[in-house]
Amino acid sequence: MQVRWSQDELAFRDEVRAFLAAELTPSMRRDARRMTSVYAPHELSMAWQAILNARGWAAPAWPVEHGGCGWSAAQRYIFASEFAAADAPSLSPMGIGMCGPVLIGHGTAAQKAHYLPRILTGEHLWCQGYSEPASGSDLASLQMSAVDDGEDLVCSGHKLWTTHANVANWIFCLVRTSHEAIRQQGITFLLIDMTTPGIEVRPILMLSGEHIQNDVFFTDVRVPKANVVGRIGEGWTVAKYLMEFERGGGVSTPGLKARLGRIRAMAAAEADDAGGRLSDDRGFMARLAALSVEIDALEAVELQILASLSAGDAPGAKSSMMKTVGTELSQRLTELALEASGAYGAAYQPHATCPGGPTPNFRPPSDQGYVGPDHSLTAASKYLNDRAGSIYAGTNEIQRNIIAKAVLGL
Ligand SMILES: Cc1cc2nc3c(=O)[nH]c(=O)nc-3n(C[C@H](O)[C@H](O)[C@H](O)COP(=O)(O)OP(=O)(O)OC[C@H]3O[C@@H](n4cnc5c(N)ncnc54)[C@H](O)[C@@H]3O)c2cc1C
Repeated sequence: MQVRWSQDELAFRDEVRAFLAAELTPSMRRDARRMTSVYAPHELSMAWQAILNARGWAAPAWPVEHGGCGWSAAQRYIFASEFAAADAPSLSPMGIGMCGPVLIGHGTAAQKAHYLPRILTGEHLWCQGYSEPASGSDLASLQMSAVDDGEDLVCSGHKLWTTHANVANWIFCLVRTSHEAIRQQGITFLLIDMTTPGIEVRPILMLSGEHIQNDVFFTDVRVPKANVVGRIGEGWTVAKYLMEFERGGGVSTPGLKARLGRIRAMAAAEADDAGGRLSDDRGFMARLAALSVEIDALEAVELQILASLSAGDAPGAKSSMMKTVGTELSQRLTELALEASGAYGAAYQPHATCPGGPTPNFRPPSDQGYVGPDHSLTAASKYLNDRAGSIYAGTNEIQRNIIAKAVLGL
């Protein structure tokens, strides 16, 4: 598919390119290329957010009055495409991509005035406390309790898999404020300062050895009622609104296209000892071509969603389609990248990746050297990390249930 941009859109593209050329340093690009998950290393992500915020570009999807860009769907798409092509690092999504839109849609004027500017500057770094040990797909069964004690809600419970809880200073949580016959009715959406006494964070290591996810334990944590978003007992509506943005509020196909282009380049560049190239392998190239067509189809859907978001709509059930297809295409890309890396994909060298550990029981070589071409360094870690894509933000099986009900009317 060929998208034709207008003269104004091309001028905007040039402006974004010039910005990236001026601001994105070679070391930032290298570290972003060496990311093993969808999350850039914390320091890199925060440094890049500060640069974007200074330019007014930290939150392209937010309305202008809250510090967003007020861009059209085309501009948002161009922006994301240029960033993907330039190897720009990603920003932590839980503040700008999730909590921000929720506060804009459901927060009080005081909450918007207090939290939104701090999300933009990075002073507040957020994490998401939805899942619990026995409440993942069946989220409405969650048990973290919040007992009304006058001015405060007193919270106790255990959140699990909490991405970035080890670096975040705020967490938005779903808590149970009452036990109703309809479970969804007793849930409240609460903003909690992570420095409040009674919160303990313990690491969970990724399959690739990195520390990004966490267990978070709450024991009698006092949270002012002013931190409730929406009304007490009506958090399920807020939670579902947030999940639409989590699954479909971003722009994902430019990243998939950039990765596909890199694999194509890898296949053309690598000659084996006998002089053969992967790009001569018709089976491999056929799989690459099929993937390319499916990414183009996803791009068409994404452009439609972006157009309705720019008109002020929420992503709706289409976000479940984007999440399901996007993560499955991404997993197929990691499989091809690993195949294109050949034997180098088997070398275990986390010291050459970002964030690159800490990996238990691994001692990097004293000279920090590594083997293989640059593109092979992250292939195995990315492959392993990407298995989680069809689990987090609601598993793809659950998304298919939502699509069956809300889109197909089954
Ligand atoms: C890397 C990673 C990061 C994460 N980050 C966060 C985070 O920051 N914050 C947060 O709150 N959570 C986070 N999660 C948790 C994530 O949202 C849950 O893992 C997910 O919702 C699945 O829940 P579960 O793990 O309890 O699996 P379960 O719900 O126990 O599901 C197990 C299996 O059964 C299937 N299944 C369950 N019910 C149905 C059904 N009704 N129909 C069909 N199939 C079904 C599921 O699809 C899955 O395959 C993260 C998870 C991972 C892996």
